Parts: sequence; structure tokens; C-alpha cells
Amino acid sequence: METGKLIIISAPSGSGKSTIINEIIKDESLRLSFSISATTRPIRRGEQDGVNYYFMTPEEFKAAIAADEFAEYQEVYEGRFYGTLKREIERINAEGRNVVLDIDVLGGINVKQMYGDHALALFIQPPSIEILRHRLLSRGTDSVEEIERRVNKAEFELGYADQYDCVVVNDVLRTAIDETHEIISRFVNAPASASQS
Ligand code: 5GP
Repeated sequence: METGKLIIISAPSGSGKSTIINEIIKDESLRLSFSISATTRPIRRGEQDGVNYYFMTPEEFKAAIAADEFAEYQEVYEGRFYGTLKREIERINAEGRNVVLDIDVLGGINVKQMYGDHALALFIQPPSIEILRHRLLSRGTDSVEEIERRVNKAEFELGYADQYDCVVVNDVLRTAIDETHEIISRFVNAPASASQS
């Protein structure tokens, strides 16, 4: 079986990205598998090592960089590193499945450049920064300082949306899920060399 395609999904934290991806990944006909990233950020309540992320100490992360184990990595928040391990992409490809990368804008743009038409870069956008702040507050998983950090980061990330192949605005969740599903379905079912239009 030919190598799987890559679907890069980037979005500001709190834009509903995880809900959308988790819904779409359920459609087994798309043969999607998550690439589990490595990170140095602390584990959150309800998360599991090796399921949500491979949680690493900064020393372990540095050693993995030195050993060239990452396809890409970024300091997404100050002192908080996140990276895609080459072996994750290889593992999913070997299973003949398509890889879903939930990564930040800089990582996303790098991977798109590396993989070209073999990758679809999708940006999920909140309707506004104010709505985003409200969603992060009601999620209740982060401190107020952390939320401000994420809102600032979101403003920065929105500036890169036009470099993505497609942008979905998550205003009404059901509509955003359907739209994202349609875009991904078209991409995974297109011949490998066809570019996204
Ligand atoms: P969170 O801490 O909320 O789980 O994730 C924060 C941000 O890190 C999200 O925007 C997510 O897309 C990004 N991220 C997660 N894994 C990776 C990765 O492997 N590489 C890059 N560049 N960003 C990542």
C-alpha cells in the first residue's frame, strides 16, 4: 500500500479543534490515525502518557532533538516544547493509514513545505478572539495567566491562516464538523498526486 497522506490541523487553543478532529476520526472509511506528539508541558487531569502525548522532561526532549528523532518541533509556549516524532509518522504510514497532525502554525507550515501535495494543511478558526477567551475560561483547564498566554498566541496564529490550504470557521460546531469532514474526505480520496483546490 502506498504511503499514507498527512492532514495537518492547526487552530488556536480553544477553537474546538479537538472536538472536531475526534468526531471525524471516528469515520473509519477515512483511515485516519493521530500522530501522538511529544511535549514538555505538564500532564493535565484526564490525560495519559502515550495516549494524548508522550510527556517528556526538558532533558529527554533535548536528547531527542540531538538524536534527530523529530520531523519538526517548536517552542509553542515559552519553555514548553512540542514535537512530531519521525517514528510516529512511520508507524502510522506502515499501517497504511493517513496521519493526522494536530500541531501549531509554525510546525504546520514546516510540515506542509516538507510534504507538499502529500499533505493537506487545514486551519480551524474561532469566530472571534473574545469568543475564544470565553471558551477557554469555561473549559476551566487552565489558569488565568495561561489563558491570556493562549489568547495572545491565538492572535499571532490567526495571522498565518492564509498560508493554509483551507480555513474552517468554527461558529456552529455541527457545521464546522461537516465542513471539515468534507474537505478531508475529498483530500484522502483524491489521487495521491492531485493538489488541493
Ligand atoms: P495543548 O497544550 O493545548 O495540548 O497544545 C498546545 C498547542 O501545541 C496546540 O496548538 C497544538 O496544536 C500544539 N502542538 C501539539 N503537538 C505539537 C507538535 O508535535 N508540534 C507542534 N509544532 N505543535 C504541537
